[in-house]
Amino acid sequence: MNVTAGAATDIGKVRENNEDFYLIDEPLFAVADGMGGALGGEVASQLAIQTVEELFRAGKGSLAEHVRLANRAVFERSVRDRAVAGMGTTLTAVKVEGSEAHLVHVGDSRAYLLRAGDLRLLTEDHTLVQRMVKRGEITKAEAEVHPHRNVMTRALGTEPDIEVDETSVALLDGDRLLLCSDGLTAMVTEQQVQAILESEPDPKRAAERLVRAANRAGGIDNITTVVLDARKEEPTSGDTAGLIGRRISPPSKAATLRWAVRAGITLTVVGALFAGFRVYVDHQWYVGSSNGRVAVFQGIPATLGHFRFSHVVEQEDLQASTVEQLPLYSDLEKGITANSRAEAVAIVAQMRRDLGTAGQAGVAS
Ligand code: MG
Repeated sequence: MNVTAGAATDIGKVRENNEDFYLIDEPLFAVADGMGGALGGEVASQLAIQTVEELFRAGKGSLAEHVRLANRAVFERSVRDRAVAGMGTTLTAVKVEGSEAHLVHVGDSRAYLLRAGDLRLLTEDHTLVQRMVKRGEITKAEAEVHPHRNVMTRALGTEPDIEVDETSVALLDGDRLLLCSDGLTAMVTEQQVQAILESEPDPKRAAERLVRAANRAGGIDNITTVVLDARKEEPTSGDTAGLIGRRISPPSKAATLRWAVRAGITLTVVGALFAGFRVYVDHQWYVGSSNGRVAVFQGIPATLGHFRFSHVVEQEDLQASTVEQLPLYSDLEKGITANSRAEAVAIVAQMRRDLGTAGQAGVAS
């Protein structure tokens, strides 16, 4: 199979850094979306992809093994270097071998297959809301607007070992693959994504058009897209290749032991998870409302009984009710999440600009 690829990445309209990173190094392609304050996100996404690329070029082991080693590299760096403590990243990568596309995936970036007028999601988001959808607690539509839709249940670099999802796709002539960060899928519907992929034959231009569409819709996050086109080198007959399903990589010995330990001392693990959750919460930021005014919060916009997972760090002079009248910020009451304090402050700055263009008096007297 011949593959032609094009990519685009953009900081978006709100964020101060582009923490996404992508790779086009035929036959290996990847997208990573970093998270963590200050420099953490950028370091995590780049280190993850470069580690996978180096291991791939060294020619030993499977792609999933490369991802597990990249996880270890990001984790160890975050433990060693206080400046990037707590960083993590998504990673969605594909290796094309003959007519097989091997896909590995951790986090909430995505891979799609466009085949014969049908856009199919090949990856599963490792997010809290996706877990709730699977349990039937909320619908897919509710998940898309859920205030905690950015909370990930699995990210590369946050624990010493990681479970990697693997999928293989037997490519057909004319197949188009899309790898993208959530900055695309949070802003643009799958119908719009499909319409752009179907109307733009050039992969580079298709990738750029997707990014422009996300920016036109608000560009609230970094946006990265990699588009791959598969073409048969020469026509052959009798090829009945098709999608062959999803599987989870077999657990290593260490992972098996870990599961046994988890089964035995569930309470300890729950305690450790909670401690990890606290660390996670301390690295989260959002813009919400406090006493009727816009405020920057550290934590996540959630409560459990009387327990709050956030506190105000900056009280603004903007009236929350005025800001909420702008459609982009109708979720203010639920909280608009950010990856760092700087990003949360940038969202507030954007609110001020948007209020200015909307010609409204947003500043409280
Ligand atoms: Mg993102």
